[in-house]
Amino acid sequence: MRGSSQCVLCKEPSGNLILVDIIESGSGPGWGLYACPTPCAQEYAGRSYAPTWLAKELEKLELWPPES
Ligand SMILES: [Zn+2]
Repeated sequence: MRGSSQCVLCKEPSGNLILVDIIESGSGPGWGLYACPTPCAQEYAGRSYAPTWLAKELEKLELWPPES
């Protein structure tokens, strides 16, 4: 995954990013968006356009629901 090790929210480079969304390109394969597990992926999962599977993925990582 060289070249994509940057969080889409905070733009911080990280070696520990998780997939938060998949952009469909219409023709050909889509591409993934990656973010830090916390707090960025958690914040992303709370957005109205976040994919429904993201919260489930965060649940597996015990990051969802976010603790307040
Ligand atoms: Zn981030």
